[in-house]
Amino acid sequence: MSDKYDVIVIGAGPGGYVAAIKAAQLGLKTACVESWTSEEDGKQVLGGTCLNVGCIPSKALLEISHKYEEAGHGFADQGIELNDLKVNVGKMMERKAGIVKQLTGGIAGLFKSNGVTSIHGHGKLLANRQVEVTDKNGKKTVYEADNVVLATGSNPIEIPPAPLKEGLIVDSTGALEFDEVPKRVGVIGAGIIGLELGSVWSRLGSEVTMLEALDTFLPAVDQQVAKETLKQFKKQGLNIQLKARVTGTSVNRKVITVKYEDSKGEQELKVDKLIVAVGRRPHTDNLLSADAGVNLDERGFIFVDDQCQTDAPGVWAVGDVVRGPMLAHKASEEGIMVVERIAGHKPQVNYECIPNVIYTHPEVAWVGKTEEQLKSEGQAYKTGTFPFAANGRAMAANSAMGLVKILADEKTDRILGFHVVGPQASEMVAQGVIAMEFGSSAEDLALTCFAHPTLSESVHEAALAVNDGAIHIANRRKKK
Ligand SMILES: Cc1cc2nc3c(=O)[nH]c(=O)nc-3n(C[C@H](O)[C@H](O)[C@H](O)COP(=O)(O)OP(=O)(O)OC[C@H]3O[C@@H](n4cnc5c(N)ncnc54)[C@H](O)[C@@H]3O)c2cc1C
Repeated sequence: MSDKYDVIVIGAGPGGYVAAIKAAQLGLKTACVESWTSEEDGKQVLGGTCLNVGCIPSKALLEISHKYEEAGHGFADQGIELNDLKVNVGKMMERKAGIVKQLTGGIAGLFKSNGVTSIHGHGKLLANRQVEVTDKNGKKTVYEADNVVLATGSNPIEIPPAPLKEGLIVDSTGALEFDEVPKRVGVIGAGIIGLELGSVWSRLGSEVTMLEALDTFLPAVDQQVAKETLKQFKKQGLNIQLKARVTGTSVNRKVITVKYEDSKGEQELKVDKLIVAVGRRPHTDNLLSADAGVNLDERGFIFVDDQCQTDAPGVWAVGDVVRGPMLAHKASEEGIMVVERIAGHKPQVNYECIPNVIYTHPEVAWVGKTEEQLKSEGQAYKTGTFPFAANGRAMAANSAMGLVKILADEKTDRILGFHVVGPQASEMVAQGVIAMEFGSSAEDLALTCFAHPTLSESVHEAALAVNDGAIHIANRRKKK
């Protein structure tokens, strides 16, 4: 038996590393176990999916590819002429890797300065909150803790018709590593990850075809917003096929043939790279001994209550490995809630106010309910929308597409949903999150002074449109 801790966290992604830092700040003796090992130098890698192969690298490539696309297609209209525009994929990847290294190294520094003990190895929960760690040489050490936080994240789902094939049929991790711009890219799954990765390669010049089995585009998104988004993506040349179910793949001389069925019958698509982005599954491989006392739900997630407590006393689970949206900020908020509870506080994550973002161009972001959800719940509501086409700042930025949409309770005027498709939607949605956290009405936002000219004025106008009417568009006359 080795050291005893107040808290041992297993997994150093946004759920785990944030929980570990917060626990240490609250004065708890904390260790964090992480098994990820760098192929380059055999050292431990912190930051989880998000920092290494998820949020950060995808955003780095989205930013760079957007600049390239804009320079190629958007600059000339603004009087900026460029010749010989080229993309150097090697350099782009180097920059992405540099950002990842800086951030993951930053977590190691934060662990040190907060006094978190970092343990490199695979963690397994035994009975009575004992954690067995197997290091990369196979040596096992058992640690003891009063509380254990499981934050082991998720892995991409693989599908039998499209088994991965090194460098050709890849998951999201492989799609962030191409060493040149493929001529033709296929993407299975038109969800958030598929759309972001498809956009990166499309902007850099690939011909991108996305095959989505469902017949509704972005079903979790407000459908007015989803329709506007689809229109913009089509304009950009993303070939999104709905109701297209992949049945098989074959590879011949580095060309991948994808067989799929759509409403017209059997179809074939030939591509040079195929990205499988159909979703992610919770990661619990070799995590729990039979007597650990932790149960999984029917979909393989660790079963927890609203406060992230598992069935075993003193054992908690957060992030992608438990129910709820698979988002980095949701994982971190749960991590903080759990360790504050361990320290005797009584916080609660407000699952109603977790923002969602798709970092395409235009960006799509929302918080709260969609119009479809309100309808199906029988909730009476009012709507206010405002298009960026009538926003001076968006026009000046050559980015006047999309809209802001606010949904409010018919009687109380309380904001129930906040949706943005358009420039900087990822930043704008924070206004909706804050408003909803404070129980704001649409009128509260309408009475607030917004700087001019800013994109945020569209929020003001959408809030005005919910009740008395926006100033800068013609409003439909409301029925009395
Ligand atoms: C391409 C892509 C883009 C994304 N973009 C975004 C985005 O823009 N915004 C957003 O909010 N979310 C995004 N996500 C989702 C986000 O990455 C996850 O929601 C987030 O990483 C979940 O955090 P987590 O801590 O639960 O798990 P993870 O980040 O998956 O971390 C889990 C960690 O646990 C370690 N581990 C697992 N088992 C063990 C064990 N037994 N012992 C020791 N260590 C173990 C793993 O090695 C890993 O480091 C993206 C994901 C992908 C794939």
